[in-house]
Amino acid sequence: MNNFILNTPTKILFGQGQIAQLGQEIPADARILITYGGGSIKKNGVLDQVHAALAGRTVLEFAGIEPNPTFETLMKAVEVVKAERIDFLLAVGGGSVADGTKFIAAAARYQASPDAWEILLTRGAKVADAVKMGVVLTLPATGSESNNGAVISRRETGDKLPFFSPFTYPVFAVLDPATTYSLPARQVANGVVDAFVHTVEQYLTYPAEGRIQDRFAEGILQTLIEEGPRALAEPENYDVRANVMWSATQALNGLIGAGVPQDWATHMIGHELTAMHGLDHAQTLAIVLPSVLAYKKEQKRAKLLQYADRVWGLREGTEAERIDGAIAATRGFFEQLGVKTRLSAYGLDGSTIPAMIAKLREHGGTALGEHQDIRLEDSQRILEAAR
Ligand code: NAP
Ligand code: FE
Repeated sequence: MNNFILNTPTKILFGQGQIAQLGQEIPADARILITYGGGSIKKNGVLDQVHAALAGRTVLEFAGIEPNPTFETLMKAVEVVKAERIDFLLAVGGGSVADGTKFIAAAARYQASPDAWEILLTRGAKVADAVKMGVVLTLPATGSESNNGAVISRRETGDKLPFFSPFTYPVFAVLDPATTYSLPARQVANGVVDAFVHTVEQYLTYPAEGRIQDRFAEGILQTLIEEGPRALAEPENYDVRANVMWSATQALNGLIGAGVPQDWATHMIGHELTAMHGLDHAQTLAIVLPSVLAYKKEQKRAKLLQYADRVWGLREGTEAERIDGAIAATRGFFEQLGVKTRLSAYGLDGSTIPAMIAKLREHGGTALGEHQDIRLEDSQRILEAAR
C-alpha cells in the first residue's frame, strides 16, 4: 500500500429532515448566498425547507447554474459575492451546483491574477483562500458534496477542466435521500453510473495490496448494482435512495482512493465529449469506460479477474472469458439503467474524434491512466472503439 494523508473535513448531516439542522452549521452573522440551478429545488420544496432553516438570517439567492456549470455564469455570481459582501455560500442542488459554487468561492478571493480562468489552467494550484461553503445535495452522483474538486466549462472556448484546492472542501453537506425522489429517471441513472465509474477508476488499476480499499470499492460497486435499478423501479423507497446516496458520497470522498493507484482516463476523455457535444457527464463515462477497460485489459488483468470474481461472480471459463465477461457485464449494467454505451447511440459517428483529441492535447491530457501511458493516439483508439 502507498503512503497517504487523508483529511475529509466535510461534516455530513445524513437523513430525512436534516435540512432543518443546517442553520446551526452556518455562523449566525453570516451573509449567506444560496446558489442553485434551473429551479428543480423550487418544484420539490427543497428551497422552502432551506429558507425555513435559515429564517431570520441574511440570505440572498443566485439562480441559473447550469448542468456542466459555465465560467460565464459563475463569474456573475462572483460579482454578487463581492458586491454583497457574502461570507457563506450554500449550494443547493446536484454536482454542477456544488462544483460551480466551489469555483465561485475560490474566484471571489482569487488574488494571483485578475483573470479567474487561471484557476482552471493551473488546476487550482494558486488558490490561497475561498469563501466558506456548504452543500444541500439533491442528486447523488459526483461526490462533490464532500470532496475538494470541481469541473468547470467555458462556453466561449469549448473547454471543460477540473481544479482542486484544500480551500474548497464544503464545511458541511446535508444528504436527505427524500430530496432525490423528484429526480427524473435519466438523472438517477446518470448518478449511479458516475458513482460506479468513480469507484472503478480508483479500483481497477493494478494490485497495490490495498485490501481494505479493494473491499470498500467492491462493496460500493455491489451496492450500486443492487440498488441502482431499484431506485428507478421504486422511486420513493427511502432506504434504496439512502443507500444510493451514501454510496455516491463514499465513492469520491477520498477514502477508497487513499494509498492506491488511480486511473481517471475515462473522466478526462469523457470531459472532451461533454465539452464538444454536450453529452451528460455520465453518458460520456458509459461510452468511454468499457472501451478503456478493453484497451487496457492486459495491464489491468489481475484486477479485472478480481473484479469479475468478487463483483460479478464470474468464476467459470478461461481468464480471458472472465475478463471479457466482466467488461460486458459493466456495459450491460449501464444499458440496463438506460445509459447508452456507444457514440452512435447519441447520433455521433466519430468524425469529431480528431478534434476531441486536439482538445485533449491542449488540456494536457497527453499521459493518462494509472501508468500515465495512455497517449493521445491511445485515447484516439479508445474513442474509435467506442463508436
Ligand atoms: P447536475 O448537472 O448537477 O444536475 C443535472 C440535472 O438534474 C439538472 O437539470 C438539475 O436541475 C436536475 N436535478 C438535480 N437534483 C434534482 C432533484 N432532486 N429533482 C429533480 N431534478 C434534479 O448533475 P450531476 O450529475 O450531479 O453533476 C454533473 C457535473 O458534476 C458535471 O459537470 C461533472 O463533470 C461534474 N462532476 C464533478 C465531480 C467532482 O468530484 N466534483 C465528479 C464527477 C462529476 P436544476 O438545475 O433545475 O436543479
Ligand atoms: Fe464523475
